[in-house]
Amino acid sequence: MKAEIIAVGTELLLGDILNTNAQYLSKQLSALGIEMYYQSVVGDNSARLKEMLKEAFSRSDLVITSGGLGPTEDDLTKETGCEYFGKKLVEDKKALEMLKEFFSRLNREMTENNYKQALVPEGSIVLYNENGTAPGIMIDDGGKILVMFPGPPKELIPMFEKYVRPYLASKQEYTFVSRVLRVSKLGESMTEHLLRDLIDSQTNPTIATYVKNIEVVVRITAKAKSESEANKLIDPVASKVYERLGNNVYAEGETTISEVVCRMLMEKKITVAVSESCTGGLLSAAFTDIPGISEVFAEGAVTYSNEAKMRRLGVKSETLEKYGAVSAQTAAEMAEGIAKTAGTDIGLSTTGIAGPGGGTEEKPVGLVYIGLCVKGRTVTKELHFTGNREKIRVRTVDAVFDALRRELENMEQNS
Ligand code: ATP
Repeated sequence: MKAEIIAVGTELLLGDILNTNAQYLSKQLSALGIEMYYQSVVGDNSARLKEMLKEAFSRSDLVITSGGLGPTEDDLTKETGCEYFGKKLVEDKKALEMLKEFFSRLNREMTENNYKQALVPEGSIVLYNENGTAPGIMIDDGGKILVMFPGPPKELIPMFEKYVRPYLASKQEYTFVSRVLRVSKLGESMTEHLLRDLIDSQTNPTIATYVKNIEVVVRITAKAKSESEANKLIDPVASKVYERLGNNVYAEGETTISEVVCRMLMEKKITVAVSESCTGGLLSAAFTDIPGISEVFAEGAVTYSNEAKMRRLGVKSETLEKYGAVSAQTAAEMAEGIAKTAGTDIGLSTTGIAGPGGGTEEKPVGLVYIGLCVKGRTVTKELHFTGNREKIRVRTVDAVFDALRRELENMEQNS
C-alpha cells in the first residue's frame, strides 16, 4: 500500500506551528510497512485541497489529512473530502451525543457551527473523538482510503491508535518489526566497521545505524507475516550484533543513557552528587529529570569560578595554578570534593571548554575532562568533542553517564 499525508492549515504554511502530525504519522505508517513517497502542506483553501486530493489519489492508495475539521468557516477538509468522493453528509447519532456530552461537561452552550461537526460522509467509518469535538473520518472507497483527522495531536494520536492502525494493519500482508540497540561511545564509523559484513549480507532483517549525540542507534528491522515471526528473524541477528559490540550496547528500545544509569543507581541504592563547571547544571538537570531519583541524588553544585571550586569543593589553589581549571587533576579534585562534602558514594565532575571562545592551542574548544570518584577511587577521562557550545555540553553529560555506567557494571562484576 502506498500512502501520502496532506497537512491542512495556513498556520503550518506560515511556519507558526511545526508539522508534528506528519512526523508521527510517517513513523506509524512505516512501522506498518506502508510506503510513502509524498507529503504536502496546503492552506485552508478548498479548491487547492481538492486539487491535492486528486493528485494524491492518482499515485497513492491511502491519503491521510490532518487539520481543518473544526467548526469554523475555514475548516473545509471534511466537505472537500466528501465532495471528492461524491458522498452526502449525514448526521451521526453517536457523534452528536458525544458532542452534546462534551459541551455539557464544559458547561458550555453548543452553537449551530458545532452541530456541523456531527455530520459525516455517508458510508464512512467514524473515528470518535474522546479528547475534542471534531470526529475523524475514514472513507474506504473500493481500496482508495481517505482518513481525515482533526489537527490537535492529542486528538489525532488516540484516534490513529484506536481505529486507524488496526484497520490498516488488517490490510497489510506483512508487518515490519524493529528492534533498536543503543550503543554508546563507539562512534558511527566504528560501529559500522564492526558490523559491515552483517549490514552488507542481511536483507531480512536489515541493519541500519544512526547517530544521536554520543550514541549510535542500531536498528534491526524484519519483515514477516506476524510479529512473532519477525522477532524470530531478529533474534539471531541481534545476538551477533551483541557479540560484536559487547558492553558498548547499553540498552534496547526507547530509553536514554541517563535513564539506564539512574535506574542502576536506584536499584543498588548508590548515592551520588555532582560538581559542574562547563555543563552549568545540565548534568544535575539530567539526574533530576528522572522520577524517584531523590532516593539517591543528593546534590548538584555549579562551581564555575576557581574560587567556587576551592571554597565549595576544596580544589587546591596549587592544582588550579599548575594544571588549570580544565585539567584531569582539577576534575579529580572536584569529584572527590563533592563526594566528600555531600557524603555520597559517588562524586562526579565536569570541566571543559565549551566555546565558542576560550580555546588555546594547548586546550582547544571541545576539550573536556570528567571525573568520577566511586567509593573513594577516582578516575578521570579526557574527551574531545566537536560541535557548538550546546552540543559540547550535551555530549559531556552523556559521556559522564556512560562512564558511570561502565564503572557500575565493573563494580557489579567484581562484587
Ligand atoms: P479544531 O477542532 O481544534 O478546530 P481542526 O481539525 O480544525 O481542529 P486546525 O484548526 O487545523 O485543526 O488546527 C488546530 C490546532 O491543531 C492547531 O492550532 C495546532 O495546534 C494543531 N495542529 C494542526 N495541524 C497540526 C500539525 N500538522 N502538526 C501538529 N499540530 C497541528
